[in-house]
Amino acid sequence: MKFIADAMLGRLAKWLRVLGFDTLYYPDIEDGQLVKISREQERTILTRDTNLLKRRGLPGAVFIRDDDVFDQLRQIGSLLDVSYASPMGRCMICNGVLGPVGARDEVRDLVPEFVFLHFNEFARCGGCGRVYWGGSHQKRMKEKIKGIFPDYSGLPFSAGNEGGH
Ligand SMILES: [Zn+2]
Repeated sequence: MKFIADAMLGRLAKWLRVLGFDTLYYPDIEDGQLVKISREQERTILTRDTNLLKRRGLPGAVFIRDDDVFDQLRQIGSLLDVSYASPMGRCMICNGVLGPVGARDEVRDLVPEFVFLHFNEFARCGGCGRVYWGGSHQKRMKEKIKGIFPDYSGLPFSAGNEGGH
């Protein structure tokens, strides 16, 4: 299942990407455009806007009632089928699929020296080229995620550089 989140759900969109779900998010998108994209790309709309839900001919849409992002994830948990998720997650910034980095040396010039020396897990966004790295923060995030999705077996990548190609 693919998603498009409304402008009020930026945090939820980021977490869905970390979990590997294809999620579009634009901070200033008009309702009409949001509905158009969801229809064209068969994306479920995630929204906090009850007016949007009243529109006619709306494709699948879910009203998100909670404020807290973890409550929000819990609310839509039944929609989140891991077989649709990218195993290494997606880029928090551009929604591109993260893939493995072949050799560690490939990222030497792409991350801060401190990161290169202290981190071992790296992933790269196939969309924008941003490099992500993992470490102790991944374990903490994984525990949080497993509190909601006990079967989650991925490694969440959330820290990355600003870099391009
Ligand atoms: Zn990216």
